[in-house]
Amino acid sequence: MTAARWVVPAEERTVADTAEALFRSTFGGAADGVWAAPGRVNLIGEHVDYAGGLVLPFALPYVTVVAVRVRDDGILHAVSTHTGESWRGALADVAPGHPSGWAAYVAGVAWALRRSGLLTAGTGFEVAVHSTVPVGSGLSSSAALECAFALAVADLAGLPTDESGRRPLIDASIRAENEIAGASTGGMDQSVAMLARPGHALLLDCRDGASRHVPLDFRSAGARLVVVDTNAPHRLVDGQYGNRRAAVEKACADLGVATLRDVADADAAVAALSSPAAQRARHVLGEIGRVREVADLLDRGRIADLGDALNRSHASLRDDYEVSSVELDSAVDAAVEAGAWGARMTGGGFGGSAIALVPLDRVDAVTENIVRRAESASLPTPQFLSAEPSGSAHRL
Ligand code: ADP
Ligand code: MG
Repeated sequence: MTAARWVVPAEERTVADTAEALFRSTFGGAADGVWAAPGRVNLIGEHVDYAGGLVLPFALPYVTVVAVRVRDDGILHAVSTHTGESWRGALADVAPGHPSGWAAYVAGVAWALRRSGLLTAGTGFEVAVHSTVPVGSGLSSSAALECAFALAVADLAGLPTDESGRRPLIDASIRAENEIAGASTGGMDQSVAMLARPGHALLLDCRDGASRHVPLDFRSAGARLVVVDTNAPHRLVDGQYGNRRAAVEKACADLGVATLRDVADADAAVAALSSPAAQRARHVLGEIGRVREVADLLDRGRIADLGDALNRSHASLRDDYEVSSVELDSAVDAAVEAGAWGARMTGGGFGGSAIALVPLDRVDAVTENIVRRAESASLPTPQFLSAEPSGSAHRL
């Protein structure tokens, strides 16, 4: 039998030690401080954040750590254990597409904070990054990086970092990703990285930014939420994500609403649209309803009853929104076949990760079946991550 490979979350202090060691070897001396922000999975509410919908993500026990020291010359110098390549440049020169590559996620945050008047022109930074969030797996390593750095900048500038102080940091992180890195994502990832609470999911209303913490305790329900990283990298920047966003905007224009959330009669709206806008809208409207359904079940402590909504979410993403992939479908089908209560792709799709809600006594059978199916179809071998609902960005 094929053994499933689990990625055990490292102690945060160990992750920080690596970031600090990289800092010392690159810049000399000690950092001013060390900050961490988590990756996330979305329990349900996929591809609805940019439609003003509801989403229900939670933070993972995998973090990105930044060790940061202030400079007084407006220069950013950043290194990461992930890439090995450093970037050094003037923050005044940061603009859409510059820098390109990973440094955009760091420089973009500083750029956005300067534009909103929260960061003075002379301030620069030395930054060393180390992460245990799998990169490019749909678990939001990008927002973890942005939010860890945004919190560092705020702390070092003496700005408030309570919940309301975090709102402009969330906005800066979103702008960094959209405008400087050029990845047209919604705001879910940054919100949960900044606002998550241990043992809870974050019910986030993407129309007005309001959020509520919903208790989420898989263990007490005799279950485990298994994250399946398919090891097929998701590819959000290649146009598919933007294409879906454009389809949603077109549907809104045709229906005369600001966001699909504002649609009163879902069936009538879908009937009024032509293909494929009708299918795209049907997914978004159905998915917003499923988020309400799942939040309601969680409020009543009925975790064992979530599976059906997860399965319907996956079918809708696969058939109506067409953002799944052969790797994700394989993982989801194998999970349900081996006894998961429910499973779905999570994140943007086109590769990346899936989640499966699994009773404790079926965890081995489910993970082994997922690996077996992938291998027999010559797909990359998936790996598995624990999904204990964890806390938000913080200083160590
Ligand atoms: P995801 O957020 O799902 O992991 P994205 O494509 O949104 O995937 O973001 C991945 C990108 O974020 C990487 O290609 C890299 O540019 C940047 N990134 C994330 N984590 C790190 C890290 N630890 N070091 C350097 N770059 C990172
Ligand atoms: Mg991302």
